[in-house]
Amino acid sequence: MATAAAVKEVRQPKPLPAPNSDFYHFAETLSADELAILKKVRAFMESKVAPIINKYWVEDAFPFEVLPAFKELNLGGLGIQGYGCAGGSQLLVGLVAMEMCRFDASIATFFGVHSGLAMGSIAVAGSEEQKQKWLPPMARMEKIGCFGLTEPLVGSGTGGGLTTTAKREGDTWVLNGQKRWIGNAPWCDMSIIWARDLADNQVKGFIVENKTTPGFSVEKMLNKIALKVVQNGQITMKDCRVPEANRLAAGAQSFRDTARVLRGTRYLVAWESTGVQMGAYEHALKYAQERLQFGKPIGSFQLIQDLLTKMLSNTVACQCMVARTAQLADQGKLTDQQAAISKAFTTAKMRETVSWARELLGGNGILVDYNVARFFADAEALYSYEGTYQMQHLIVGKAVTGFSAFI
Ligand SMILES: Cc1cc2nc3c(=O)[nH]c(=O)nc-3n(C[C@H](O)[C@H](O)[C@H](O)COP(=O)(O)OP(=O)(O)OC[C@H]3O[C@@H](n4cnc5c(N)ncnc54)[C@H](O)[C@@H]3O)c2cc1C
Repeated sequence: MATAAAVKEVRQPKPLPAPNSDFYHFAETLSADELAILKKVRAFMESKVAPIINKYWVEDAFPFEVLPAFKELNLGGLGIQGYGCAGGSQLLVGLVAMEMCRFDASIATFFGVHSGLAMGSIAVAGSEEQKQKWLPPMARMEKIGCFGLTEPLVGSGTGGGLTTTAKREGDTWVLNGQKRWIGNAPWCDMSIIWARDLADNQVKGFIVENKTTPGFSVEKMLNKIALKVVQNGQITMKDCRVPEANRLAAGAQSFRDTARVLRGTRYLVAWESTGVQMGAYEHALKYAQERLQFGKPIGSFQLIQDLLTKMLSNTVACQCMVARTAQLADQGKLTDQQAAISKAFTTAKMRETVSWARELLGGNGILVDYNVARFFADAEALYSYEGTYQMQHLIVGKAVTGFSAFI
């Protein structure tokens, strides 16, 4: 018979808890059908993207090899109803963006630009004919889109200062100007270009076919330190002729309509920023459970547990915030200032969280091989794109005080 001492010797150590940043179980609030979609996205990101993404990040390249499996997810036009789009609730749209970012922010950005910004512009501002023509092939991801608003000399000030011009000549529009930072542009099929109509000085949106429109050229932007997998381009348009049928006719009469598209995608960046925090936290926690110093896992040290709890608290707070914005969006009630405050708050928290994760990994925190460095760097792009922190605060400040501080 074994003695009590011998039994104690063979007892296995209790398995450590698996990292799980969905601390309040938000995924469980989805319907069974939508949860199944989310799980497919997770499996895709885990099996196809996670193993290869660091290599592409280092090489500044887009992983075209994952596109066939991406298309099979049938996510094109998520949140857009009809026209062959994936549809679904705003909570699903958000949770999918968050789940993608939990693994990689570039893949989420590629998809956000195509489905949210490019398809979203057509869904919000296109005519019935335009929706029927463009949305189905984009939903199938046979045609990939980009969104051209920012210019080399006009970033935050696009509301009042676009320099790209549109001049009507009969049934044709002639576009001239440049767009900068445009995600997917170096390789995608079509662009939504925002330009100022010389006749009435209002901003209008145009669908431009990148590969067949004479005068349209794209130069890939080099030497980025964030979202290196996303291919950003500088677009030049020299007397590009676009048919009147390609002008977003139903609801793109002024910059107000551009802002309507951005309202939806800005709060999506809030979801993405929350996902980045989840990924950074989970990598950091796993590392803390495995890395030994002074003969013990660093996760057993009080100060490391403090870092982890701060990361998780930030993440959970952001999850609560974005979940409420999704409810408002589903009810058609999300305002510009509500979208703006969620983008600003979550991106600021994300910067804190990823820097704590990087700190926790010590020297390995600056090596791409350990993943956290990629999250750390990518966070900087999310902090600035789709309207900087300052711009979001000016939107909120104007709404709550009644005074516009925009200059
Ligand atoms: C990775 C990446 C991807 C992008 N993808 C796209 C895309 O697909 N399509 C697209 O159209 N654009 C895209 N952008 C552009 C992005 O939206 C702009 O970078 C952003 O709007 C800020 O513009 P800017 O970089 O010109 O900065 P600026 O406007 O020059 O601002 C510089 C600084 O000044 C501050 N500032 C400016 N004005 C004020 C003011 N009145 N008061 C206080 N502070 C102010 C800003 O907050 C910021 O800190 C992308 C950018 C990045 C980095």
